[in-house]
Amino acid sequence: MTDYDFPSSEASTAFTLTPIGRISSDYPDKFGIPRQPGLASAARATLTLAPPFDDPLTVRGLDAFSHLWLTFIFHQSPTRWTPLVRPPRLGGNAKHGVFATRSTHRPNRLGLSLVELVKIETHHGVTLHLRGHDLVDGTPVLDIKPYLAWAEALPEARSGFAPAPPPSLPVTFSATAEAALLRRRDGDSLRELIRQVLAQDPRPAYHKNAQNTFERRYGVRLRDVDVRFHPSASNGIEAMHVEDIVVASSPA
Ligand code: SAH
Repeated sequence: MTDYDFPSSEASTAFTLTPIGRISSDYPDKFGIPRQPGLASAARATLTLAPPFDDPLTVRGLDAFSHLWLTFIFHQSPTRWTPLVRPPRLGGNAKHGVFATRSTHRPNRLGLSLVELVKIETHHGVTLHLRGHDLVDGTPVLDIKPYLAWAEALPEARSGFAPAPPPSLPVTFSATAEAALLRRRDGDSLRELIRQVLAQDPRPAYHKNAQNTFERRYGVRLRDVDVRFHPSASNGIEAMHVEDIVVASSPA
């Protein structure tokens, strides 16, 4: 299959976009981030607007909305793209047209996420406090729009290969992991975030059916910690077990 360079040589029809701000996120790296924003409601982020967009006037009235659309750039994705992609939802085997998916590998690398707006700070510039997002730390944001439930929530809409939320696995914690959580001021919200993230089974699709699946150990970075976990089976039910939670030794 051909893959294409981006931007194309048709530069005369190209647009220049300037990020209005950047995300600072509970997710220091991509591994483990749920595939859509609502899946981990405990995930926190701030969006700090950059000059000249950081004038408090730009967000006047926004606090009356509980949810926002963010358009952003998948800045950690390659600029090269292919017409067909393999949605992880389909086990990484079936191919769909890039425009029939929410793939991060796409022309223009534009992302679109619906997030909860918790609070707006306008003391020094503008900082929006967000929850339930799916954005890696440092993501450049291009625009913010208030979400209009009456116009945009269509629960009866046909949803192709993703007709329902993905399955969610039970998550258990070792005594060591629980003790680590108890020592932290953000212990409760971190426990909830870990639960929501691991329930989504962040393992690569090709690991899931591997022979040695229960022997492998994994680590996911959330906030400032490394969460060490492995798949387990209790009474034949697949689960995720958190072995330990340790403060990360190096920046992500
Ligand atoms: N809701 C968005 C994103 C869907 S894909 C949309 O539909 O456009 C979600 C995945 O994007 C996450 O699992 C995460 O791994 C990845 N991601 C988040 N921020 C990213 C970034 N800045 N660059 C590349 N990938 C990113």
